[in-house]
Amino acid sequence: MIKLKDCLYDGSSKFKLLKYPTNAGVEKAKREEVEALMAANKERMAQLQDMLYAQGKEGVIVMIQAMDAAGKDGTIKHVMSGLNPQSIETYSFKQPSKEELAHDYLWRAYCHLPKRGNIGLFNRSHYEDVLVVRVHGLWHGYNMPARCLEMDEKDFFAQRYQQIVNFEDHLFQNGYRLVKLFLNLSPEEQKKRFLARMDTPEKNWKFSAGDLDESDLWPQYMDAFEETIGATATKDNPWYVIPADQKFVARYLASEAILKALEDCDPHYPELSEDEIAAMEACRPRLS
Ligand code: ATP
Ligand code: MG
Repeated sequence: MIKLKDCLYDGSSKFKLLKYPTNAGVEKAKREEVEALMAANKERMAQLQDMLYAQGKEGVIVMIQAMDAAGKDGTIKHVMSGLNPQSIETYSFKQPSKEELAHDYLWRAYCHLPKRGNIGLFNRSHYEDVLVVRVHGLWHGYNMPARCLEMDEKDFFAQRYQQIVNFEDHLFQNGYRLVKLFLNLSPEEQKKRFLARMDTPEKNWKFSAGDLDESDLWPQYMDAFEETIGATATKDNPWYVIPADQKFVARYLASEAILKALEDCDPHYPELSEDEIAAMEACRPRLS
């Protein structure tokens, strides 16, 4: 059975996307067992979330990147569903608005950072700015001075990778832990899921012809993912490349990664000082 550490890439060797499977090959018969493991993870995640919030010291940001139909929405729904919605802050990174485009590309990630003590959930993230922006050459159209744009593509994105590493180091050094998940889907499985969307009335609304245009650019996207993950994984802020062809396995592994980050935070309920306990006890008579 595949383990979380098999999905981990922390930048300590050269990154080769092809070394990471899209299908973990877990037998169907094991599905219930895997789902039970995931249920246990979710219970523990909820306990840790409560302490994380009570303590308010550290924030966790889960970011999910993937091709269309890789299971971002399902992963979010199934993995996060046992948590307390009050201390979760979610943001979906869609095409940038005029307001967002008028700022630098990390601004919107900054604007949506969760408070420490909370869990942030980024559905897509600032990584779109080195993925879709690269694949479609969108940066050529940015309204920025020549010094920011007059260079070749490689240099432009090398700069951005470094900016992202610096940004994420900054977050880590200021009380955040990132869980960077890439749901690694095969193009064959994506086609099957698109067809299922067409064939199932409850899923029709998810079908978009635009997704097929992106799918046609599969090799370009995989090159962009490979370079991005290779350049932005660090010991403190690693990537997890999660095999996504089997949904139940992907969800379990995502829960493992989030649970690990919460465990690493090692949250505890705040302990009251003797004075605080005395002050609390002094209130007791008012309640009797
Ligand atoms: P779903 O389709 O499940 O609702 P989604 O994340 O695919 O979820 P869409 O509204 O379909 O949501 O797509 C958002 C689109 O916005 C994606 O194609 C994504 O690549 C694009 N996008 C996100 N960030 C940027 C960016 N910085 N520049 C350009 N396009 C972006
Ligand atoms: Mg979409």
